[in-house]
Amino acid sequence: MSDIQLKNIDKAFGKVEVLHDVNMTVNDGEFVVFVGPSGCGKSTLLRVIAGLEKVTAGEIFIDNELVNDIQPRERGIAMVFQSYALYPHMTVYKNMSFGLKLKKHDKQEIDRRVRHAADTLQLTEYLNRRPAELSGGQRQRVAIGRAIVRKPKVFLFDEPLSNLDAALRVQTRIEIAKLHKKLDATIIYVTHDQVEAMTLADKIVVLHDGRVEQVGAPLELYNAPANLFVAGFIGSPKMNFLKGVVTSVKGTTVEISLPDGKAITIEHKTPGNENAQATVGIRPEHLILAKPEDGLLKAEVDVVERLGDVSYLYCTLSDGTAIIASTPGTSLATTGDIVHLTARIEKIHVFGPDGTTWK
Ligand code: ADP
Ligand code: MG
Repeated sequence: MSDIQLKNIDKAFGKVEVLHDVNMTVNDGEFVVFVGPSGCGKSTLLRVIAGLEKVTAGEIFIDNELVNDIQPRERGIAMVFQSYALYPHMTVYKNMSFGLKLKKHDKQEIDRRVRHAADTLQLTEYLNRRPAELSGGQRQRVAIGRAIVRKPKVFLFDEPLSNLDAALRVQTRIEIAKLHKKLDATIIYVTHDQVEAMTLADKIVVLHDGRVEQVGAPLELYNAPANLFVAGFIGSPKMNFLKGVVTSVKGTTVEISLPDGKAITIEHKTPGNENAQATVGIRPEHLILAKPEDGLLKAEVDVVERLGDVSYLYCTLSDGTAIIASTPGTSLATTGDIVHLTARIEKIHVFGPDGTTWK
């Protein structure tokens, strides 16, 4: 068992409040990703869990034990950083075994663990090399190996792929996913990259300005974002946001007009008032080219990007709103074309004036 519970965590550095009332549970064996823009407090939260930072308020439990006052090295946690922090003068073998040696583990046991980790990470043939003689991806694997040999209860990863080039990032990402299955480990992984979060996580925690915006499985966040921030952060290209106005409310049926005067009708449990502002969100991949009479939106094409499997139409609506439509295959549209776009009503999100999703 290695589950983690955070209760009402606040963290301030002097007068600067970095984390506000963070609550969450990480279950045993779960792969949890903290995602959010740079500076939102991801590393601080990870360091709080590791015990490298003291909380200002709140409680941290590991396996139901309150660990607020427990030293980092006694929390059963291993951390892998973005900068691999390998010892340059030591071989891969020594880098991986050093920590165990300090802890005075038996020599044969150390050797067994290092060789097992090297085998798991396909590093066996590099055990005698120094970090300078390895590629970025191999160095990152050594850093992970150094964590594995300690047999921690929980692995913490802080943006471990940021220093790798795009191709290697994808490859290493898949290796980390496989590793999670192989080790059956509890992992908390920090990234600012929503694609990494979507592909790796069992559960994503979206952070923004030191607060938890939403917790959920990747597709829950994609299909049902709780608010504008999550809607805009998860998904690529970003969700389009349009200015809507409530034009009629009949019971729970709400009609919202879109920039070009057409309207959509949604069901909303606690509808707002007529004339209330609402933001209408439609993902680029949910916009469909339509005949003029069927279109919800009329847009002028500014730029077309053809990526082979898909084309992105960068367009402007009559009220000046910039939107992106993702259309399958190679688009024949060109700059200056007028296109009509629609979307299935169940793919349309509506957010109230306070930014939360209307359900
Ligand atoms: P992230 O990892 O999401 O990019 P961090 O957790 O590193 O964000 O930082 C969150 C905020 O806390 C930032 O505004 C940062 O400047 C501030 N911060 C982090 N560490 C310290 C510190 N030791 N002293 C003062 N401010 C800090
Ligand atoms: Mg960070």
